[in-house]
Amino acid sequence: MTTIDTARLASMFAAIADAMSADRDRLCALDGIIGDADHGIAMELGFSAARDAVAALDTGATNPTTLLNTAAKSFLNAVGASSGPLYATAFMRGAAAVKGKATLDDADAVAMFQAIAKGIQDRGKAEPGEKTMMDAWAPAAQAAGEALASGKGLAGSLEAAVQAAKAGAEATKAMIATKGRASRLGERSLGHMDPGAASAVTVIEAMRVALTD
Ligand code: ADP
Ligand code: MG
Repeated sequence: MTTIDTARLASMFAAIADAMSADRDRLCALDGIIGDADHGIAMELGFSAARDAVAALDTGATNPTTLLNTAAKSFLNAVGASSGPLYATAFMRGAAAVKGKATLDDADAVAMFQAIAKGIQDRGKAEPGEKTMMDAWAPAAQAAGEALASGKGLAGSLEAAVQAAKAGAEATKAMIATKGRASRLGERSLGHMDPGAASAVTVIEAMRVALTD
């Protein structure tokens, strides 16, 4: 059983920020094909802001909910693109899911993960198959829940989430975008991976490593 404290969540945002910096150019290139080429910049800016904001908290005197809300607010302020409100809502929902807890056990962490995905869903209203980040987050959240229920711990659950997100992102290549900027392309969006789904895989993999390794 893993026990995740507030400091570990702060390090999770640092890990995601690093991963976004490393992935920035690929994500901008993907967004350049079906969007406006800024997705890598948006994600790097957002997670760098979140990392800095949570690093400034006194982790001994705060809690997971405050940390996640702090990350959400700073992400929203830093990002003008549509991923800003999507991830901000995601982390606010993650915050609400762990309210009152000083540390997270495996089930709490999976509940937080699923609330993050649900936040993106509620905010963006994208259904599966619309070629958005939901096509990675929704199967990832489902896989994590199923893995936990089948007795896998957090590491196995987040590993299942990563695999499901990867398959979901891959599947966006065969989808026509009907939400967001890429929807203007119609059938011309076919054949290309959605940048938001691609970055979701990177976010989820960074979360897996930060929360379980
Ligand atoms: P923008 O389109 O404003 O430039 P970004 O480039 O940061 O924003 O993000 C684009 C990504 O946002 C898309 O690849 C898609 O995954 C995601 N996205 C757009 N609209 C929605 C939505 N309604 N629900 C979920 N994800 C969305
Ligand atoms: Mg864009």
